[in-house]
Amino acid sequence: MLQQVNGHSSGSDAQGRESLREDLQEFLGGEVPLHQLDDLTKVNPVTLETVLRCLQARYTADTFYTNAGCTLVALNPFKPVPQLYSPELMREYHAAPQPQKLKPHIFTVGEQTYRNVRSLIEPVNQSIVVSGESGAGKTWTSRCLMKFYAVVAASPTSWESHKIAERIEQRILNSNPVMEAFGNACTLRNNNSSRFGKFIQLQLNRDHQMTGAAIQTYLLEKTRVACQDSTERNFHIFYQICKGASADERLQWHLPEGAAFSWLPNPERTLEEDCFEVTREAMLHLGIDAPTQNNIFQALAGLLHLGNIRFADSGDEAQPCRPMDDGAVRTSALLLRLPEDPLLETLRIRTIRAGRQQQVFRKPCSQAECDTRRDCLAKLVYARLFDWLVSVINSSVCADPASWTTFIGLLDVYGFESFPHNSLEQLCINYANEKLQQHFVAHYLRAQQEEYAVEGLEWSFVNYQDNQTCLDLIEGSPISICSLINEECRLNRPSSAAQLQTRIESALAGSPCLGHNKLSPEPSFVVLHYAGSVRYHTAGLVEKNKDPIPPELTRLLQQSQDTLLKVLFPADPEEKSQEEPSGQSRAPVLTVVSKFKASLEQLLQVLQATTPHYIRCIKPNSQGRAQALHREEVLNQLEACGLVETIHISAAGFPIRVSHRTFVERYASLRRLHPRAPPDPHSPSPDEGHSEGSPHAEQATLRALLQDILHTLPALEAATPAA
Ligand code: ATP
Ligand code: MG
Repeated sequence: MLQQVNGHSSGSDAQGRESLREDLQEFLGGEVPLHQLDDLTKVNPVTLETVLRCLQARYTADTFYTNAGCTLVALNPFKPVPQLYSPELMREYHAAPQPQKLKPHIFTVGEQTYRNVRSLIEPVNQSIVVSGESGAGKTWTSRCLMKFYAVVAASPTSWESHKIAERIEQRILNSNPVMEAFGNACTLRNNNSSRFGKFIQLQLNRDHQMTGAAIQTYLLEKTRVACQDSTERNFHIFYQICKGASADERLQWHLPEGAAFSWLPNPERTLEEDCFEVTREAMLHLGIDAPTQNNIFQALAGLLHLGNIRFADSGDEAQPCRPMDDGAVRTSALLLRLPEDPLLETLRIRTIRAGRQQQVFRKPCSQAECDTRRDCLAKLVYARLFDWLVSVINSSVCADPASWTTFIGLLDVYGFESFPHNSLEQLCINYANEKLQQHFVAHYLRAQQEEYAVEGLEWSFVNYQDNQTCLDLIEGSPISICSLINEECRLNRPSSAAQLQTRIESALAGSPCLGHNKLSPEPSFVVLHYAGSVRYHTAGLVEKNKDPIPPELTRLLQQSQDTLLKVLFPADPEEKSQEEPSGQSRAPVLTVVSKFKASLEQLLQVLQATTPHYIRCIKPNSQGRAQALHREEVLNQLEACGLVETIHISAAGFPIRVSHRTFVERYASLRRLHPRAPPDPHSPSPDEGHSEGSPHAEQATLRALLQDILHTLPALEAATPAA
């Protein structure tokens, strides 16, 4: 008997026949209802409008996944659909003879990658690139895929006999709540928005079981620790400790019930992600014991108190600013185990070394400078803590290099962004998206070309949008946007936002991807990305790129008596002069852009050595409502990810790839079940007028064969016992 699991037939044979019927009906001109079109290459014609209509019809029918040639489109259901992610369904996809014949699903991609790693004589590593805008479902998708591999690539042995093997999958899954507690936050667009990019490498042994994982993160939005939009929140972990601490912990961490913290906006908002217990439990599984956890949470409470320090101008340039609340300074020093006076001193006074003798000058900071230093201290601690956590998680889940042979990589990175105000963060994010898009197009076309060449097939080249010109503009050498921004940092010269705009526009005037900046009253430049044009504001860009850390701050933290801070800020073995450069220094500056570029290049090298798969997540509406698809919003996303172009590329290729042997094995019986009548010598042949072997004759023969198959399907169904 056939069982329906949310539209998924458990009889894969029957489903295979169903999709074959759809293919054939469509080929022969029959109408397939839009919501049943599993692959967007089948909409006709392929335009934004028809693609949207198809996705809309499927969304209304609670069908969230659709193939788009080589890509899977995932619509966010914005409601729980547990049966769509059940372990039973995972096993069904895993067991299916041809998972691609089942309904489109992330498990098809998961299974395909898993088979690719297993079936090749020379195993090729795999990667899945999950993209989409904020709130589209990238992290959800990556999490589900990790669960999928934890089920299908688990050690077959039982928990009792192989605790280690069992624990590793659980540990890998446990990295998610920890990373999300420290790296995710509630934003306007997503209550659980990832504020960092992540590439997780799932490591498989010779028997194709998951033996470990390695996590690489990109560009944590550390500014959020000290600066949040009034409608958004800080990282989840701060709310978790404030809400979930026990009475004793509240005393220890100086977090009395209802205490107000300036860096904790919207604490009244209750989120699913606020569960402290889940984070603690997961940390324990990852080997972060209770005393270490306690240490971490105490330091975080210290940062919250640091955020409550306010300065008042002394009214005299020669005198440092006064703290408005001594209590905040004291508590924060206590929790971070820093000496109180040096903390205050470091926040209020700048030391500069200058002149031939390298004399030390002490200059009181303005109120705004004090605030910047306080924020910088918090960002520094949080960013180091986050990196340290990632390394601890890695050491807990990473397998011994000798124990794994292949990997499946999951990439969950921020999608293309365009806001009314865009700065360095958006430049980096969109640069990453340009790189990934280039990789996608190059890989897909190259793969297709190679395959057709090997098969000796004729095919026509599709003109795709090559974004190399845009990449040259952003990262090219010798002159590009990145190099010009870096140059400003290197020269360390005072330059206004308007000057930076002029430099970029004049030096790169020849690039067709640099837009015309006529409309904006603010200094900015426009880049014509493959996904749309974005205006970047130049104010603060150079400073952000420098991301300066006054050396006094690092030195202060090195004085901490706290065990954790001692690890995060080890004392310099060779205590060299570290005072702020006087402006004469020309040492190469490691800027945000150059670090990001290097990590991106490393990522691409890894991706290039894998067989990539793509999942494009789409957010049906910005309110996060179930059963509501907003046309304009979805159209923008379809445009931004270049989906129509992808479909064209896919559709230009051959949609069905079946080996000759499989074809014969599968369909030979149909000819026997439904023999064609011998040709009547007096009636005109269907191929009449076409010489044998001509394209027309071949097409007619194929059409006749397909007609045969279609007519034979009911007989085949009757003859085959249902699963
Ligand atoms: P960001 O870039 O901000 O990190 P994202 O693309 O990672 O966004 P997710 O956090 O994965 O977005 O998804 C946003 C929310 O959408 C989830 O918290 C969840 O509520 C819902 N969601 C996403 N995918 C699904 C799904 N397949 N089923 C049910 N709900 C989902
Ligand atoms: Mg996310």
